[in-house]
Amino acid sequence: KWISFLGEIEKRINHESFSTWFKPATLQACQGDTIYLCVPNRSYEDWITETYHDVVEEALKAVGCGHARLAFVYAESNDTRTSNGLVEGDTLKAHDTTTYGALDPDLPDGLAGARIVDLEPLELPLNPKYTFETFVVGSCNQFARAAAMAVADTPTRTYNPLFIYGGVGLGKTHLMHAIGQSIRSRDRHMRLVYISSEKFMNELINAIRYDKAQAFREKYRSIDVLLIDDIQFIAGKERTQEEFFHTFNALYDAQKQIVISSDCPPREIPTLEERLHSRFEWGLIADLQPPDLETKVAILKRKADIEKIDLSDNVALFIAGKIKSNIRELEGSLIRLVACASFQRRPIDIELCKEVLNIEEEERPITIEMIQRVVSDHYGLRVADLKSKNNSRNIAVPRQVAMYLCKQLTNHSLPEIGRHFGNKHHTTVLHSCEKISRLYQKQSDFHRLINNLISSFK
Ligand code: ADP
Ligand code: MG
Repeated sequence: KWISFLGEIEKRINHESFSTWFKPATLQACQGDTIYLCVPNRSYEDWITETYHDVVEEALKAVGCGHARLAFVYAESNDTRTSNGLVEGDTLKAHDTTTYGALDPDLPDGLAGARIVDLEPLELPLNPKYTFETFVVGSCNQFARAAAMAVADTPTRTYNPLFIYGGVGLGKTHLMHAIGQSIRSRDRHMRLVYISSEKFMNELINAIRYDKAQAFREKYRSIDVLLIDDIQFIAGKERTQEEFFHTFNALYDAQKQIVISSDCPPREIPTLEERLHSRFEWGLIADLQPPDLETKVAILKRKADIEKIDLSDNVALFIAGKIKSNIRELEGSLIRLVACASFQRRPIDIELCKEVLNIEEEERPITIEMIQRVVSDHYGLRVADLKSKNNSRNIAVPRQVAMYLCKQLTNHSLPEIGRHFGNKHHTTVLHSCEKISRLYQKQSDFHRLINNLISSFK
């Protein structure tokens, strides 16, 4: 819903306004008809509610939330007021746990809507939370991480350029910031620029517009380390590619380190000039794969630790199992969960997960095979015994129990059930079901046994 809401907004306003005002907003929580958005500061709220009032209403209607209203919390630490009657404590909690999600490194604060004329401060600040220490390793990302660490340890002497690619939310930006921070911590005088290719382009456009193209070139050709994020964005932007090509060459020739990230390998970036393709392949290309379950759990636990959130193993496992692949989504779920737990004053448990993460318990149909397995396990038999002709009591009773459960828990007919038990006649099945049903009603320990078996399928 949130994504389609943003999509509706994006359709209605120009690209630049969209990325300035709406991209930094993250969905904090939904409660009743109120949608809580986390925005960097007060001016975002004012701008969104005043200038884009109608657009927001239309977009809400378009996604079927016409009755909903927006409320805001602020991510900037010096501005924790909220615009509505949230309890102070709630706000602060929600705020605390959001900062890492809301401070998207792609969207620096302070650029809010300002026309950028100056060339100076456009490179983005490094997010102190994106370090190698906070980066959880798994088989999905160990190669890219090792490459990044090598580059951070000995810039230009290992891989140049280092090209990191992977799907959204898999840690490209995190690794780039980690490289930057690691280099900077060792040598504060390194001139290091981290910038997204989109910002690079905007800066270039402004430089051209304000006759500062020369200053732009000098700036980029005088740095020691260039970390350029989301290079795929310059696909189709000829002038930017041209400029970047020259920047690349100048830095490379001067033996400066270049790190590039993209959502796909160089060859697959559409309309990227051939000469850039081949430049990107000069060094090392490392990919980030979607995380496996264990890595996802480890990431959740680590984030919870960092944010001092009490997250039990089974809840972590539950979330990890439900969120398919994207680590940003994984974090987003945790943030939403924590926000809702604090709004509603509830513990973070599986119940809350299901509600907040909008997860329906998948209906896993119970099959005859499952029942046979569970029942034979319970009695210490083999499934084959249930299907055999052996009518000794220690086998006949479990078989009758299994038949009874098949009748109760599946939609199979009596003859079908009979066929699964070594071609027993349907009257045998019927007889079994009646017998077990009588025992079930009369004997309390049998009652309990059957209930336990049934609940083991749920
Ligand atoms: P990308 O740039 O590839 O879209 P990001 O680097 O922005 O993805 O990562 C999305 C979020 O997931 C960030 O908050 C980041 O800290 C987190 N993240 C990604 N990979 C890891 C990891 N291996 N360990 C811990 N956090 C991670
Ligand atoms: Mg990124």
